[in-house]
Amino acid sequence: MIIVMRKGAINGELDRVVSLIEDLGAEANVDYGVEHTIVGIRSGKHNLRPEQFKFLPGVEDVIRILKPYKLASRTFHPRDTVVQLGMAEFGNGRLEIIAGPCSVENREQIVETAKSVKKSGAGVLRGGAFKPRSSPYSFQGLGKEGLELLAEAREETGLPVVTEVLSIANIELIAEYADMFQIGARNMQNYDLLKEVSGVGKPVFIKRGMAAKIEDLLMSAEYLLDGGCEQVILCERGIRTFEDATRNTLDITAVPVLKKLSHLPVVVDPSHAAGHTDYVKSLALAGIAAGADGLMIEVHPTPESAMSDGQQSLTFDQFENLMKICRSVADAVGKDM
Ligand code: PEP
Ligand code: MN
Repeated sequence: MIIVMRKGAINGELDRVVSLIEDLGAEANVDYGVEHTIVGIRSGKHNLRPEQFKFLPGVEDVIRILKPYKLASRTFHPRDTVVQLGMAEFGNGRLEIIAGPCSVENREQIVETAKSVKKSGAGVLRGGAFKPRSSPYSFQGLGKEGLELLAEAREETGLPVVTEVLSIANIELIAEYADMFQIGARNMQNYDLLKEVSGVGKPVFIKRGMAAKIEDLLMSAEYLLDGGCEQVILCERGIRTFEDATRNTLDITAVPVLKKLSHLPVVVDPSHAAGHTDYVKSLALAGIAAGADGLMIEVHPTPESAMSDGQQSLTFDQFENLMKICRSVADAVGKDM
């Protein structure tokens, strides 16, 4: 961190800044410039925050040099993290596919979907048992029964399963059935939930909040890493903008930015970004081209009768066709699928 003193700051103000730095266990290097005096801080293992200095008399600006997230950043962990889930390896130069319905609805629906998406090329099955719905009157998920059905689908196909955890109260139950926890967009900044989930010892798939900056997502990942979970996958699923022609706006730029800033694998969810089947293919292909390590796609045997997100879910045939085109794009950017 660097502290820029105000032009004309008096010696007492500088002394106060320097002694605070030293009191906090760090080292101060003062550079007396013609216009401004600059104080460089070597903080070592001491975690100093800009707010501790920003409002001191004589301070003009405090500039961070390193990112506020350490464990999630490439600075401290230059090599890509690989998250292994069954046969799928996120972050290992491959394109991995997570597919399945928005919600688990019944045995036939989830087992048939699992078989079909596996045949088309998916390596992980998704399906919500606890659903975060905008309306309390909408289908809230089958709960424990949904988890049991996911386990049956895994039994039938060998696909590992990912499902969303909404509350601390259900972590233990979900851990009995799921191979990976999903933290949804609405819970990305539920820090108590992140802390609890991070201690379970299972991978976590964390989706970007709809009003979250890239840095916010990385800070949430930092909670998971700090809590002892090293197997974290980041998901770009579209953010709220002024545009309302689609459900969300897929921030495709987030993919290369996240890949540059962090060692964690990045997955694009074109289904929740688009909100409509018509756009899922384009966004999926854009995600691969931008460098995503994987895709998460909603698939349903009969989208028109789905209990949630049918409008954005692909049929088995649509998914099969999409996988074929994905293979070409993955190949073009040097990724195996
Ligand atoms: C989902 O994956 O079904 C879901 C609810 O996603 P998001 O949290 O991105 O809205
Ligand atoms: Mn959904």
